Amino acid sequence: MFQCLFVSVFLFLSCSAFADPKLTLLGEHALTRFEQADLALMMNDMLRWIAKHSAYPRANELPVVEFVPPKVLDPECEHYCPVAQFTPEGKLLLSKVLDIFHDPLEASVVFHELAHYVQWRSGKYIHKEGASECEEDLARENEAYAMQHAYYSAHGGYLMPFQTPQFFCGNDGKLSAYPADH
Ligand SMILES: [Zn+2]
Repeated sequence: MFQCLFVSVFLFLSCSAFADPKLTLLGEHALTRFEQADLALMMNDMLRWIAKHSAYPRANELPVVEFVPPKVLDPECEHYCPVAQFTPEGKLLLSKVLDIFHDPLEASVVFHELAHYVQWRSGKYIHKEGASECEEDLARENEAYAMQHAYYSAHGGYLMPFQTPQFFCGNDGKLSAYPADH
C-alpha cells in the first residue's frame, strides 16, 4: 500500500517536473484547440532542438504568441513583407497568413523567432555600453538565420539565397536588409 502510494507520488512529481511548458496565445486566430496544442508541441520541440544544437540552455517556458494581421508587422510594406516579429518584451508576433502546420519553410519562421527568444533570454537584447546598436542587431539576425538554416536543413529543407536576407548597417546607422526587411 505504502509502496504503491510512493510510486504514485513519484510518478506525479516526475510528470509535473518534466511537463512541457504551456502556450499563451493572444490576438484573434482561427486555431482549434488541437492546433494550439500542436503549436505548443512544435515550439517545445524547437526549443529542445536549439538546446541540443547550440550553447543556449533549454528554455523552461514558451514565449507569449500573438497572431496579428500582416499590416501590423509593417504598415508600409508592399513586397517582401515580414511575416513574424520578435518584440523587445519577449513576445512573438506571427502573421495570420503563415501556414505553420503545412509548410515546413513557414514553420521554420517560428523557429527563427524562437532563436531570437533564446537570445533575449540569454541577455543578448541588452545593449552593451559603447557597442553599436546596429552591430548588435546584425549579430542577432545573422545568428538567428544561421540557426534557422541549420534547423530547416536538418528537417529536409533548403533556404535559397533569396530567402535569406543579407543584412548590413546602413548610412543611417540602422539595420537594413537586401532583399527583405525583417
Ligand atoms: Zn530575425
